[in-house]
Amino acid sequence: MAYDFDLFVIGAGSGGVRAGRLAAQNGQKVGLAEEYRYGGTCVIRGCVPKKLMVYASEFAEMFEDAAGYGWTVGDRSFDWATFMTAKNNEIDRLEGIYQNILNNNAVTHFRARAVLKDANTVELSTGETFTAKHILIATGGRPFVPNVDGAEYVISSNEIFDLAEQPKRALVVGGGYIASEFACILNGMGTQTTQFYRGAQILRGFDEEVQGFVAEEMREKGINLHVGTDVKHIVKTDAGLVVTDTHGNELIVDQVLYATGRVPNTESLGLETVGIETGRSGEIVVDEYSKTSVDNVYAIGDVTNRVQLTPVAIVEAAAFIETVFNNNPTSPDHELIPTAVFTQPEIGTVGLSEEAAREIEDIEVYAAAFRPMKVILAGRNERMLMKMIVSKATRKVLGVHIVGHGAGEMIQLAGVAVKMGATKEDFDRTMAVHPTAAEELVTMSTPTR
Ligand code: NDP
Repeated sequence: MAYDFDLFVIGAGSGGVRAGRLAAQNGQKVGLAEEYRYGGTCVIRGCVPKKLMVYASEFAEMFEDAAGYGWTVGDRSFDWATFMTAKNNEIDRLEGIYQNILNNNAVTHFRARAVLKDANTVELSTGETFTAKHILIATGGRPFVPNVDGAEYVISSNEIFDLAEQPKRALVVGGGYIASEFACILNGMGTQTTQFYRGAQILRGFDEEVQGFVAEEMREKGINLHVGTDVKHIVKTDAGLVVTDTHGNELIVDQVLYATGRVPNTESLGLETVGIETGRSGEIVVDEYSKTSVDNVYAIGDVTNRVQLTPVAIVEAAAFIETVFNNNPTSPDHELIPTAVFTQPEIGTVGLSEEAAREIEDIEVYAAAFRPMKVILAGRNERMLMKMIVSKATRKVLGVHIVGHGAGEMIQLAGVAVKMGATKEDFDRTMAVHPTAAEELVTMSTPTR
């Protein structure tokens, strides 16, 4: 049977665009539908605008620190509207680039919602119907907000990027990546910021020393971080949103940002019609090649809820293309993914936490906490943490954890070494780059435990 397309991609985020482009470059006839904006969560309301907000928020400390180096910095203030305009212009530019990638590679794209009609047919919200030999679902995810009393007054990470006004007072709920990053961003921009996390320590799953270190530094920078605390109810008054917490305390804020996880976008996609299996959180269940329970339908990225990160979706896209169009079955490699959390201070991490490694084997822990050179003259009481987890038996570095300026940049490269199976001695025989903070990674000679 002749199909309209060799591949039809649903979703123009990081994964969908990469897969569409690679398939088209491979000579396939590709169709793609996107109901919102090209670029997906990462470009439009995630990683990219978030990082711009991180940069914007970091200037407050830079101006303060400049004085210690002899600079006189005049009056300063932050204008949310000016920043938002600049940010929006940049996001528009990037969205254009994403569209051009599709145009330049002859991908036929539609700004429309697509729904599966059968295993080879999609119906668009425009009313058009297309057939395709293969269908790739890359619809991503969206913020999850629990059904709290007063939930109608809260915002999620979707809305924070488009707020017309900077909140003077804000509450951030959650203790994961997004909550912790936004607590730092808002605090840096001058918003009086409180963060509630229901558990004992934020950033669950990260190395415990890293968790404690970051939480302490965030408090030091002025964030009112309350752990073991959740929202009981929220009432809107003339004075602002009155939040009552689970201890009975009241807090008045202008915005409540919920960052309590993300759920896959699988509703009303026609998955049931076609018989595509979904899991407990609604995620599409896929095999090691990203194939769904229906033979010619694949899924990649956040909609599969494997690891919710852009570079992972991109790797999954490339593996899908190899498998389906290059006759080279390839599974995406989800082992040892380096990642950064853009809190202030920043976290860079790869491999096992001390706790996870200890469960598996005997380890040595090398750790150094110190005031980085730059903060000394600035008179800033900020510390940095470098930590390595080493296997006693094989000497392999099982995990590297960095907290401090540039941690994200450093962990990318440490990640290469760890992925290659570098031993502690491989790190040690690498010459230090002096004076840097990163040199600690090759100079820690005595295990701390
Ligand atoms: P996370 O899963 O990281 O964190 C969710 C947080 O919300 C946890 O602290 C969780 O608590 C809490 N929570 C969940 N449900 C409730 C509830 N009903 N009431 C109160 N608290 C609740 O999700 P995020 O939304 O922060 O981020 C989603 C994903 O996006 C991340 O996992 C990450 O993969 C990706 N991301 C990556 C970034 C990066 O690479 N820098 C940046 C931003 C996002 P508990 O721990 O108790 O379960």
